[in-house]
Amino acid sequence: MNGKTILQTMKPYKPGKQIEDVKKEYGLNKIVKLASNENPFGYSPQVKEAITDISTHLELYPDGYATELREALVNQLNVKPDQLVFGSGSDEVIAILCQAFLESGTNTITATPTFPQYKHNALIQGADVKEVPVVNGYHDLDAMLNEIDENTKIVWLCTPNNPTGTLIEEASLIDFMERCPSDVLVVVDEAYYEYVRPEDAPDSIKAIETYPNLVVLRTFSKAYGLAALRVGYGVATETIANLLNIVRGPFNTTSIAQKAALIALEDQQFLQDTVKQTLANKKKFMEFLDRMGLTYYDSATNFVFVNLPVTGDELFEHLLTKGFIVRSGEALGHPKGARITIGHEEDMKLLQDLIEAYLTPAVKENQS
Ligand SMILES: *Cc1c(COP(=O)(O)O)cnc(C)c1O
Repeated sequence: MNGKTILQTMKPYKPGKQIEDVKKEYGLNKIVKLASNENPFGYSPQVKEAITDISTHLELYPDGYATELREALVNQLNVKPDQLVFGSGSDEVIAILCQAFLESGTNTITATPTFPQYKHNALIQGADVKEVPVVNGYHDLDAMLNEIDENTKIVWLCTPNNPTGTLIEEASLIDFMERCPSDVLVVVDEAYYEYVRPEDAPDSIKAIETYPNLVVLRTFSKAYGLAALRVGYGVATETIANLLNIVRGPFNTTSIAQKAALIALEDQQFLQDTVKQTLANKKKFMEFLDRMGLTYYDSATNFVFVNLPVTGDELFEHLLTKGFIVRSGEALGHPKGARITIGHEEDMKLLQDLIEAYLTPAVKENQS
């Protein structure tokens, strides 16, 4: 009873440390989690207010079509209703894409490092995965195009890229689409889209009209702050969305998640406040890193990937004892680095002091 052969070489996703465990282990009262790019400001107070109302009728199956949320997004994104596919997080939309397009004998192309779920789900489907190293944290789009062959079914562009935070500009995206064969699906994962400055953000959804092989993924888990409820979506042509909806489970997003996402979408003020505070705090954090002489990748997101004079695991272990959880670069294929989510201003100040005290000796040694 071993399942598919490929599963023998794989591991289940290992979740980061849970806040309660860290409290107990180190005898701490307060833990600041800056490891998963969640929204430190929480989520819309309007969702909080409505949550008891929207959790009635738990005995009924959810609306499998997510009619109300779909309507709201159709208006916001200016697309047709049947261009959308909802998932239990965009994670599930990634899995659905792999189920719909990948099988043994096909291949798919990703950057490395990038979000690991593309590769994970592709391997489960029996596909080959070609990984193209990033350059200065940016996707190497030319090299990715070069990897395309007659068996390539999907190219994944994570933009901004997790874990490096770098954005693919509109001109580069359009150039890529122009040169990519039209029978290869290009999936643009925009989990951090809301954090990108409007003047920098490519209008990728509009580009679907010109490039029908383009699919765009968005989520309510990051800037909207609803990670616990699991709701994300894909935008594609009606033809592709139809295929994905065949694969999708009939009731894959819950009624509470659909309603909360709808309210969150309508509360654009909360989103704007989140983005404004985050970008201000990120700027200060980057200035601190500059003062420290630590380098980092250009980030269009709510996190920064920092290059370290020690291993990411060492910094992680040290900060953990002080009540801060960050993401070591070790598991992300970049051992001498860490990905740090931008938190509240006060917490970032404390974090900076801790990093400064811990890393100053190593930084000095490196410079001499
Ligand atoms: C967090 C993240 C996701 C998954 O988000 P969910 O909608 O919560 O499943 C997808 N892609 C990237 C790049 C992410 O960072």
